[in-house]
Parts: sequence; structure tokens; C-alpha cells
Amino acid sequence: MDLSLTEEQLELQKWAHEFAEKEIRPVAAQYDESEEFPWPVVKKAAEAGLYSLDLYMQSQQDASGLTLPLVMEEIFWGCAGIGLCIFGTGLPLAALAGAGTPEQLLEWAPKMFGTTEDPKVGAFGVTEPQAGSDVRSLRTRAVRDGDEWVLNGTKVFITNGGVAEVYVIVATVDPDLGHRGQASFVISKDDPGIRPGKKEKKLGIRASDTSEVILDDCRIPLDRVLGGVDKLEAKLERGHKGEATGRSSTALAAFERTRPSVAIQAVGVARAALEFAIDYAKERKAFGVAISEHQSIQNMLADMALEIEASRLLVHRAAWLAANGLPMSKAEGSMSKLKAGDTAVAVAEKAVQILGGYGYIKEFPVEKWYRDSKIYTIFEGTSEIQRMVIARALLSD
Ligand SMILES: Cc1cc2nc3c(=O)[nH]c(=O)nc-3n(C[C@H](O)[C@H](O)[C@H](O)COP(=O)(O)OP(=O)(O)OC[C@H]3O[C@@H](n4cnc5c(N)ncnc54)[C@H](O)[C@@H]3O)c2cc1C
Repeated sequence: MDLSLTEEQLELQKWAHEFAEKEIRPVAAQYDESEEFPWPVVKKAAEAGLYSLDLYMQSQQDASGLTLPLVMEEIFWGCAGIGLCIFGTGLPLAALAGAGTPEQLLEWAPKMFGTTEDPKVGAFGVTEPQAGSDVRSLRTRAVRDGDEWVLNGTKVFITNGGVAEVYVIVATVDPDLGHRGQASFVISKDDPGIRPGKKEKKLGIRASDTSEVILDDCRIPLDRVLGGVDKLEAKLERGHKGEATGRSSTALAAFERTRPSVAIQAVGVARAALEFAIDYAKERKAFGVAISEHQSIQNMLADMALEIEASRLLVHRAAWLAANGLPMSKAEGSMSKLKAGDTAVAVAEKAVQILGGYGYIKEFPVEKWYRDSKIYTIFEGTSEIQRMVIARALLSD
């Protein structure tokens, strides 16, 4: 067992860190305030090769599983909102790669990214007003009409929902089968009947676009169902016969593999807060000494560092398991997301405390990291749902 990073990995980390420091940090507060989508930064990331399909393809070849975690920790250290604008497309891409045919992947993945000169982003739409954690209750319907699908419904809280070029949308084809009657569809923003709805104003990650996506008689060709029509029909038939469809276990296994890449975002935010708190504690004086001399401040810093290190180790292990196709039978992906999400909130809160009044005002970035951190206990499965998944894994035979 060797936990040291290779020369190549250290280079990758440095490359991403320099981009975050030079291109993201200086504009983070501005985009947090304006809530605009940071297209100029995404374009620079595309030019640098940080926002590219190639990076995802390269990460697939890496048996350590660390390519994306190393890069993403640095980018989210820069700003979680802007980071999500650069890496949010990873989610629809994972859905496309997981459920799509090789032909679908080849056709649609490049469209999600666009070109270096004109980058595009993708969105993954599952959540609905009455169905978040409970994905069985989706009401968006996909009905076959001759050689087309017709989709109707409303998705909410969709990352990149208002700015995406390509959407992967989960809809119910056969309501009698519950989640086994659902399928994913790939839709272009130019297809008839799909449009962004309300853009949400948020507590944190405010540079990231979170919008409704409205499907109003959205008509798409039959071959847009991921995996193809024949596979879907065979699955529905098995569902009606009461046989296992495989969807639930496949979807859960896919979530386990993608959760580490969300968890590492939280590690990046937490590390930003810790680093700032350390520097501040060394400078700030109270009762004649630097506050870093006070035992209670040292205790907080120690706990913050400990939790970050533990979170990162869980993420790296889960990413390594995922990259090598090893079973994640203890829900190691969910463990990493749960630990890192809770850690980001706890660490950012302590950083605010260490800065005292200066932690609470906008002149310092710590209040922003506190606001940004909270999303990591909510999206991609809330902390309660992660605990449920871990407990199920423990209790299953
Ligand atoms: C900024 C942002 C970006 C997002 N991006 C996307 C996206 O790109 N695509 C997408 O599809 N969705 C996205 N979401 C939606 C997100 O995944 C959901 O908000 C999340 O899954 C929770 O669902 P909900 O909001 O309906 O809460 P609910 O499911 O209603 O949960 C409410 C509370 O009840 C708890 N709870 C629910 N069920 C259980 C249970 N069985 N046991 C214990 N506790 C339970 C939850 O943990 C939570 O505390 C995003 C959300 C936000 C805020």
C-alpha cells in the first residue's frame, strides 16, 4: 500500500491549484454577489484543458482513481459555485455513460462540452417538486407516440438547468412499475417543448445556475432513450412479470461511484476555510498574544484538520474502488459523501468562529464558504439518505 502521490499526480494538482488561484479566487466574490453564470471562467477552463471531455476520458484510464479528485479539490478550494459550473457537466456525462449505448455516448458527450472557443454545459434532471430523495415518485411522463417520445413534467433544482446545451432527463414510462418503470432520455435544448423555468436564488454556490426545467409536449425521436428502445422494452416486460429489472441495483452502484467526486468538492471548501483560519489565527491578537496561542483555537484547528484528512482518505479510497470496478459493499461512496459533507459544514462554521466578527462579514471569504458548504449535506443525496444507504449495506445479507 502506497499513499504517496506520483510526480504526475503532483503536477496535475499544481496545475489545477494555479488555475484556481489565478482565475477563480479573484472573481469568486463577484460571481457570488451577481449570481451570473461565469462563462468567461468556464471558457478559460476549457482553454486550459480543465473543462474538457478529454480530462474525463483520461481519468477513466487512471487505475488510482485520483485524477478527478486531485483536480477537483483544488478547483473547489477556489470556489464551489464556479467549480460546479466547470464540473457540473460530469453528472449528466456519468448518466449518459452509465445508461447510454456507445453510439449515444459518442454523439452526445461532445455536444455537452462544445468547443474550446464556444464551451457548452450539460444538466441532469431527476428532482421534481414533490420528489427529491424519494425518486420513485417522479411524475414526469414519457409516452411513446409512433416513432417519437412525448415528455411532460417539471424538474426543479437542476444544476445548469437554465444554461445547458444537453439535458439527461429521468421520466416515468410505465407508472405501474414505480422506479423500475423509469428511463433516462437525452434531449437537446433545441428540441421542441423543453425550456428552462425559474432560476433559483440561493444561500450558497451562487455562481452555479440552479433552475427549473419544463417539459411541455417535448417531442424527441425514439432512439433518445438511453440504452435504446429494445433494452427498455425488455426491462419493462421483466418488470411486469415480477422479475428483477436490474435498474435499482445498477443505479445504486452508479451513485456509489459518482459520490466521491461530489465529496471531494466538500473537501476543497473545507480546506479553503481551514487554511484561511490558520493564517488569520497567527495574525490576530487578543489578550496580548496571537489567538493561535489560545488552547481553544488550537483545539478547533486540530479538529478541522483531522476531519478534513479523514474525509479525503475516505474519498480517495472510494475513488480507487470505483476506478478498479471493485465492489463498494459497505457503501464506501456514500460514506465519503456523508463524511465530507458534514465536515465541510463543521469546518466552515469553526472558521467563522475563529475569525469572530470578521468571520460574519462579507469583507472576508469565510462567510461565503460557510454558505457554500451547506449544499454538501443536501444535494446528490442528503446526509440522512447517505446514512440510510450505509445502514442498508450493513444490514443486507
Ligand atoms: C443547489 C442545488 C442543486 C441541485 N442540483 C440537482 C441536479 O442537478 N439534478 C437533480 O435532479 N437534482 C438536483 N438537486 C436536488 C437535490 O438532489 C434534492 O434537493 C435533494 O435530493 C433532496 O430532495 P428534496 O429537496 O426534495 O428534499 P426531501 O426529499 O423532501 O427531504 C426533506 C428532508 O427529509 C429527509 N428525508 C427524506 N426522506 C427520508 C428518509 N427516507 N429517511 C430520513 N430522512 C429523509 C431529507 O434528508 C431532508 O432532510 C439540487 C438541489 C440543490 C439545492
